[in-house]
Amino acid sequence: MAFAGFPSRLPQVGTTIFTVMSQLAAEHGAINLSQGFPDFAPPPRLLQRVADHMAAGRNQYALMAGALPLCEAIAAKVESLYGARYDGDSEITVTAGATQGIYTAIAACVRPGDEVVVFAPVYDSYVPAIELNGGKAVFATLRFPDYRPDWDEVRALVGPRTRMIVVNTPYNPSGAVWSAADLAALEAVVRDTGVVVLADEVYEHMVFDGARHESVARYPALAERSFVVSSFGKTYHITGWKVAYCLAPRQLMAEFRKAHQFIVFAVNQPAQLALADFMREDPGFATGLADFYRGKRDFLRMELAGSRFEALPCVGTYFQLARYDAISDEPDTAFAQRLTREHGVAAIPVSVFYPGGDDHRVLRFCFAKTDETLAAAGRRLRNL
Ligand code: GLN
Repeated sequence: MAFAGFPSRLPQVGTTIFTVMSQLAAEHGAINLSQGFPDFAPPPRLLQRVADHMAAGRNQYALMAGALPLCEAIAAKVESLYGARYDGDSEITVTAGATQGIYTAIAACVRPGDEVVVFAPVYDSYVPAIELNGGKAVFATLRFPDYRPDWDEVRALVGPRTRMIVVNTPYNPSGAVWSAADLAALEAVVRDTGVVVLADEVYEHMVFDGARHESVARYPALAERSFVVSSFGKTYHITGWKVAYCLAPRQLMAEFRKAHQFIVFAVNQPAQLALADFMREDPGFATGLADFYRGKRDFLRMELAGSRFEALPCVGTYFQLARYDAISDEPDTAFAQRLTREHGVAAIPVSVFYPGGDDHRVLRFCFAKTDETLAAAGRRLRNL
């Protein structure tokens, strides 16, 4: 079948790199360290709670904004970790993954002609969401190799057309974690403007080496103008459930919900109720994640230490960047494909996250994997 000449709303967009690399890994039987998801099981008690709620007949629509016990559990967690009080009724909405939360926040705010500042390398869903809503992405650069924000550059990009700044800490793909000074700089940039902040904090519980997660929720002058998005997929090893949440002060959240109710309406009820139980019963699971993933990071770095890959610093997330210029001068997309086909390890080429395709010969490896998987990948990577 063909329907020729249909004008694309997203002419520059193809299939996401995560789908492309996971498919290539499957075709070649490669170890998949590309798309970010764990290859180990979620906590059994959480699975049991889903089954319990289904068996108890809680299988119909959840409330539009989220099941109340889950909203309350989120409010309690955010208050205990970041000292911020969000009202479970009016300032928290459960979303179908962080992807939907991000899309909805953008759809609720961005009008045709608005500018949205994003940082490159940029997580792949932000710019299409901005463009589908008629906005224009404006790029601040995180400079290789430390990927620190240049706040003078950001300040220069903010003008009368700026509607929003999208920030992400801990940072995918770089593994960097923003500091309190970064948050202070962000606060100074948006002060006395109408700019809204969208903070993607899906890796909030994966911060290592004594660093602290600097949620915008900690800073009242930022929180009052921010949407904060986190994802249960990352925290409980359940990326396939697509359950996440968004926090925002009442007035912003009211706008968010106007869009949310027509984008998804409500999110999987038994999964929400199970998460509420689990958060109450085992609050230490989330806070223990940093140690768990620090161990995984160290394991992968040890595996890479005997190879010609050079691991860059990783202070947060479950991604490790590595340079390969001692091995090859191929572009990173070509090298990532060859690594998958010929050496049986799939990774993400970082150039795809830059609007201009900047290629520093760096790959992103996901270490949310069993030690056996990481060791097997390490053996293959040391052969290059
Ligand atoms: N966020 C995950 C990653 O960075 C992938 C999510 C997806 O496949 N869309 O790898």
